[in-house]
Parts: sequence; C-alpha cells; structure tokens
Amino acid sequence: MRIDIATLFPDMCEAVLSESIIGRARAAGHIEVVCHNIRDYTLNKHNRVDDTPYGGGMGMVMQADPIFRCYEAVCAQLPEKPHVIYLSPQGRVLTQKMAVEYSQKEHLFLLCGHYEGVDERVLEEIVDEEVSIGDYVLTGGELPALVLVDTIGRMCEGVLPDESAFTEESHYNGLLEYPHYSRPAVWHDKEVPEVLLSGHHANIEVWRRQQSLLRTRNKRPDMLEKAELTQKDLAFLESIKEK
Ligand code: SAM
Repeated sequence: MRIDIATLFPDMCEAVLSESIIGRARAAGHIEVVCHNIRDYTLNKHNRVDDTPYGGGMGMVMQADPIFRCYEAVCAQLPEKPHVIYLSPQGRVLTQKMAVEYSQKEHLFLLCGHYEGVDERVLEEIVDEEVSIGDYVLTGGELPALVLVDTIGRMCEGVLPDESAFTEESHYNGLLEYPHYSRPAVWHDKEVPEVLLSGHHANIEVWRRQQSLLRTRNKRPDMLEKAELTQKDLAFLESIKEK
C-alpha cells in the first residue's frame, strides 16, 4: 500500500513516520508513505501558498492551485487515481471500521489543511471524502494524517507479527480488550489473576472474553448496544447485572 501526504510541514510528518513500528514497516517496504511539500508546487515567485479570504475575516486560506498541482504530480506516479481524503474537523469521525476499509486500498492521498483551511474549489475537484479525528479543532491536518497512517499502517500485511495482533484489540470486534499483566506475578501486593498462570487455554479464553464484556459494559456501555454478542455473552452480562 502507498500513502501520499500533501502538507506544508513534511518534516513534522517525517519525524513521526520514521520512528517505531511504522518507521520499521516503511524501512522493510511493508508500507510506502511519501510526504510532499505543497510549497514545492507553487508557481508564485515568493513561494506563497496561502492568501487572505475573500469576504474578509481572520486568518489565511491555502490556495487551490499548489494543492492541485501536487495532487496531479502524485497521480502521474500512480497506475490509478488514489482515494483522496481531506483531514477536516467537518469530516466523518474516524472509527476502527473506517480504518480497516482504508487499509484495504492500494493508494491513499491525504491532504492536510492549515490556517483557516483550504480553498473550497480544490476540495470540490479532488477530494473523495473528509475525515475528522474528533469533534475539536487543531492547527493543522498533519496530526490527524499521522493518526490515520498509524492506524492503517499497523493493519498492513507484515507490519505486526500476525492478524490477531490487531483483530483482538479494542474496537476491532466492537468491544474493549481484556486487561493485560506481565512479570512479576505479584507487584505492590497485587496478584495476577490465577487463571492466567494456570496454562489452561480454554479457561483463559473464557476469562478474557468475560473481562472484555465487563470492561466494555463499565467503560463504554454505548458500544455494547451495537456489539455482536453470543447467547453465552448475554448470559454472562445478565449474571453480572447487579455487580
Ligand atoms: N476553519 C476550519 C473550520 O472551522 O472548519 C478549521 C481549520 S483548522 C484551524 C486547520 C486545518 O486543521 C484544517 O484545514 C484541517 O486540515 C485540520 N484539522 C483541524 N482539526 C481537525 C480535526 N479534528 N480532524 C481532522 N483535521 C483537522
């Protein structure tokens, strides 16, 4: 998979994308991420990429033309049109389900806005959808783009040891994940749950499923309403109703 990021701050993106799991995945060729400086595509002799808004008001607006030229240059390198996402507080709020869908695409083009935003006309011309990372406003689309690359990247083949590393985590199946413990077995007088030391895999599976249901009910009851639950799950939830 290849992701192109169009931004005025490519160094900010590179700094994050060259670290940790995504950095290693890029180095190993499991995922290709290319950052483009929109400023490289301006025809303005002063390298300007923004201007004041028509109609007046505060702030600057990113101009349409450098963004469009950047997009065209990326398209010229690809066999097909990429799926274009504009990171925007006005977009559909990102979920795990959306991230799974994006991870199955061949090419994504992420457009990061800054200042007051982007000239509407280039959005109309190139953008397939707007995606938000939450109902609050940031200074730019770089952090949201990095969030998107991180969540998509970890689901690309070869990035994590196997699929269970992401399919068994919170949100993937509509529930929160069970708690984790590591050595030592006793820490600050707190013991690791006995079942985890038993080596009995079937019992461990049952315990983990129940813990997952329990913490989803306690921390995010709204998720339980939409989760796919078995008869066993429902019976367990009924048994802990008063607890
Ligand atoms: N004037 C815009 C509005 O009120 O909708 C907000 C512009 S914001 C200050 C600058 C840029 O940050 C946006 O163009 C967008 O790319 C990015 N951005 C800000 N908040 C975001 C969010 N919650 N999710 C995704 N992108 C966001």
